[in-house]
Amino acid sequence: VTMGRKFIVGGNWKMNGTKAQICEILDFLKKGPLNSDTEVVVGAPTIYLQFTQENKPNNVAVAAQNCYKVPKGAFTGEISPAMLKDIGIEWVILGHSERRHIFCESDELIADKVKHALENGLKVIACVGETLDEREAGKTEEVVFRQTQAIKDKITDWNNVVIAYEPVWAIGTGKTATPEQAQEVHRNNVVIAYEPVWAIGTGKTATPEQAQEVHQSLRCWFESNVGPDIANCIRIQYGGSVTEKNCKELAGQPDIDGFLVGGASLKPEFVQIVNARG
Ligand code: PGA
Repeated sequence: VTMGRKFIVGGNWKMNGTKAQICEILDFLKKGPLNSDTEVVVGAPTIYLQFTQENKPNNVAVAAQNCYKVPKGAFTGEISPAMLKDIGIEWVILGHSERRHIFCESDELIADKVKHALENGLKVIACVGETLDEREAGKTEEVVFRQTQAIKDKITDWNNVVIAYEPVWAIGTGKTATPEQAQEVHRNNVVIAYEPVWAIGTGKTATPEQAQEVHQSLRCWFESNVGPDIANCIRIQYGGSVTEKNCKELAGQPDIDGFLVGGASLKPEFVQIVNARG
């Protein structure tokens, strides 16, 4: 729909799955059918990367969920982009909020990893996103711009980078958009008035409008800080409690170019999320 950016949906399996479960996931991906206008990437646990790579259908690519910032050496427990390339992996997810918050990865470390992965020919899904405290303190833009700036400081070529915007407070809550949140698709610079339905009750989820707002801000940030061409072609995924129920409306937003899906990527409904556009 927008600026010729190919829709891209990633499944982030996180630390889930057995060989048997991965076979089931690959079976529903093979059965599909998957919209050929959508790029599909699945992020497998390190130990299953090769198995997934060897058993996946041709129209699905495989991502690692992390890698280190140097080619090799005394770094117990780590893997390098060179190793991923060696077994045919094309993508790596970097800077996921769980890496940032549970494993204390800094903006700078993540930027070093993005740089090294790109230099080694991997494509990168770079994740940014604010916590609930940060959102409530009005710091959403400050946080996602800071996280993106750290990457910008270390790289010059954005061609193989996809940004995944994942508000930390929307990850894994399992809540879907309510009918009240269902509103028409807003394009261009329309100012959107929304009801803060997300603040009611205990579960928090981004409305399409909230997601669009941040995606649009990020694209503007790229326009001012990197350049209009990159701003137009960089793909910005939304992540955080995406399901087969809320994906279509999110996919209708002009600056949402795909999803990074956690929990729902383990289930057959993932096919519907891949096909959210069209
Ligand atoms: P979720 O996770 O879809 O389970 O909320 C998204 C992610 O962390 O990538």
